[in-house]
Amino acid sequence: MYLRINRLQVELPMPKEPDPNGAAAVQELLGGRFGEMSTLMNYTYQSFNFRGRDGLKPYYDLIANIATEELGHIELVAATINLMLTGAARSGEPADAPLEPGKDWRNTLHSIATAHTAFVGGSQGAYWHGDYVFASGNLVLDLLHNFFLENGARLHKIRVYEMTKNPVAREMIGYLLVRGGVHALAYAKALETLTGVEISKMLPIPKIENAKFPEARKFEEMGFHRNLYRFSLEDYKDIAAIWKGTHPQGGELQVVDGPPAGGAVPVLPPVPEQFAPEYHPEEIFEIARKLMG
Ligand code: MN
Ligand code: MN
Repeated sequence: MYLRINRLQVELPMPKEPDPNGAAAVQELLGGRFGEMSTLMNYTYQSFNFRGRDGLKPYYDLIANIATEELGHIELVAATINLMLTGAARSGEPADAPLEPGKDWRNTLHSIATAHTAFVGGSQGAYWHGDYVFASGNLVLDLLHNFFLENGARLHKIRVYEMTKNPVAREMIGYLLVRGGVHALAYAKALETLTGVEISKMLPIPKIENAKFPEARKFEEMGFHRNLYRFSLEDYKDIAAIWKGTHPQGGELQVVDGPPAGGAVPVLPPVPEQFAPEYHPEEIFEIARKLMG
């Protein structure tokens, strides 16, 4: 089961201006083939379905624990998209076509379907689907797939980073490049303990250091690339059997017992032109008062 904390895994800056086309590109990192929905659901189902977990507990713990971190990643990317779409509304009467800017956005779903917020799909508007989940039950094959998935995700993050200078998008991508680096290394180390093959020598894929991205460099300077957070009160402690030793860039790998300090979940203002959420707080209060007698 899950506990939930009303925090983002990292603080996001407040946007200065809306950026709907930037938000459309960022959607790929949420609900595209290599987005956070895919990493989340791949590791989640692999953990649900893990056979023989009593004898292979460090591997089960690793996949289950990283899955939980990914749940916070969809939250973070959705928050980024929501911030990038905040302030995109134009006020006016219906006849004035206040939503007209939406017809020129890269992703019109943001104007038609979601009231200027994220949806569970990619940059081309296609919805995320379960075909993106690979959970074969074969441990080496699943770990190999996860290693591939993390590096595919890294490639897409880098490309989106290079498509936009939006500071909210870049902060999120910088953080997730570092976290994805941890996951790729963790899966490589897991494979190394099973097979003896030095998979981590392939890293980084693509061959560009995180330090080339100023936002990622900042988080590496804080040592985040050496931390594997344990997202549980008492469980998944055997991740320490895999996440140990020296980071390829130097310094000791460490398991952090608990989540990162993170940042506040942004409070999104209402968008009256989108009828979202339509009711004002006073009206809701009045409705509740009548319901409760
Ligand atoms: Mn992730
Ligand atoms: Mn990951």
